[in-house]
Amino acid sequence: MSLHTELPAPTTTPVADLGSENISTREIDRRKMAHDASHYLMIPEAVATPRTAEEVAALLRRSRELGIPATFRSGGTSLSGQSQSDSLLINTRQHFRGIEVLDGGARVRVQPGATVRAVNSRLAAHGHKLGPDPASEIACTIGGVVANNSSGMACGTEFNTYRTLESMVLVLASGTVIDTAAPDAETKLRTLEPELFDGLLRLRGRIIANPHSVATIERLFSMKNTMGYGLNSFLDYENPVDILTHLMIGSEGTLGFVAEATFRTVPALPKVATGLMFFDSLDRAASALPDLVASGLATIELMDATSLRVAAADPTAPAELRGLDISDHAALLVEHQARTAEELAEKRDSSRALYESLPLAAPLP
Ligand SMILES: Cc1cc2nc3c(=O)[nH]c(=O)nc-3n(C[C@H](O)[C@H](O)[C@H](O)COP(=O)(O)OP(=O)(O)OC[C@H]3O[C@@H](n4cnc5c(N)ncnc54)[C@H](O)[C@@H]3O)c2cc1C
Repeated sequence: MSLHTELPAPTTTPVADLGSENISTREIDRRKMAHDASHYLMIPEAVATPRTAEEVAALLRRSRELGIPATFRSGGTSLSGQSQSDSLLINTRQHFRGIEVLDGGARVRVQPGATVRAVNSRLAAHGHKLGPDPASEIACTIGGVVANNSSGMACGTEFNTYRTLESMVLVLASGTVIDTAAPDAETKLRTLEPELFDGLLRLRGRIIANPHSVATIERLFSMKNTMGYGLNSFLDYENPVDILTHLMIGSEGTLGFVAEATFRTVPALPKVATGLMFFDSLDRAASALPDLVASGLATIELMDATSLRVAAADPTAPAELRGLDISDHAALLVEHQARTAEELAEKRDSSRALYESLPLAAPLP
């Protein structure tokens, strides 16, 4: 749809029946929220901007009664259109920005509209940071990080939300609010959502009883995998509250609203040394990986020939890259991270022999 097309009045769903408090059908508000970082354009019929978890609960309850599909949008940096809607879009970026540092930075309780950058800025004073480290950290938020199970170069599968989340406050489509850290969370879920409670246990029983299902889930989640629901939750946890909490991670907002999340943090390592290793083929670069991973590098990112060509066109790129006659080349962008300059020097020294043994196509810049 062209941006200049006149918008039809919302008619397909009765958004007007949702009430008007904190809900806008103004054209400017709808167009403003018509994109995320994907290539799609979807113009919502209405944009709600709730202020509290209770307001989100009421909105979900009402939209379910009216049969109006609802989608959350927070930082809006998703790459596949999952924070867009042509129905009701719930903007949770504007409010929900609270950050509470706990236990001297070892834990942090966060509301979903806070950006990763804002949370890490608060944690930095304590020498800690969040485990999940998406490259979009300046704009993406906790709600999106949890709902996409986002990760970045140093996080891998070890420090993502699934591994570092302690508890959450969640709002289900029915409007039920559960604080999974509360002592009565299990009782509350069983009492208020008996069908969901039993269904989770039934699904777990079915999976556990089938060795083929268990093997498939174990295989698929032994590597980085954010496709579909986190079915490993059924193997890793026994209680419905724990299963549901971990199913919410990566569910892209389809199972409910994350109103608050408490994370265990990881140490912030402010000293870094970065290198770019050129190989004459993708195969050679991939063959070097096992030894490089074992050497304790914090990050290893693969660049193929096309991305090298793009980078080489930048006049500020290292001379070694600009001087490379790129054909089938590939590169590994590697990084050591440490607490102190001495620790960093030690890590660099201990990797030197390994680097020298690699079949590099150009000297390490
Ligand atoms: C330049 C760039 C770099 C990127 N780098 C990375 C990267 O390194 N690693 C990576 O994994 N991703 C990356 N991404 C993708 C994206 O930024 C992340 O997945 C990010 O965490 C999404 O956060 P957001 O706040 O923008 O969420 P949104 O895009 O607003 O929403 C993401 C999803 O979460 C749902 N949602 C949002 N808030 C809530 C909530 N409170 N409760 C329930 N559901 C909710 C939405 O409905 C949607 O399905 C990158 C994107 C860009 C543009």
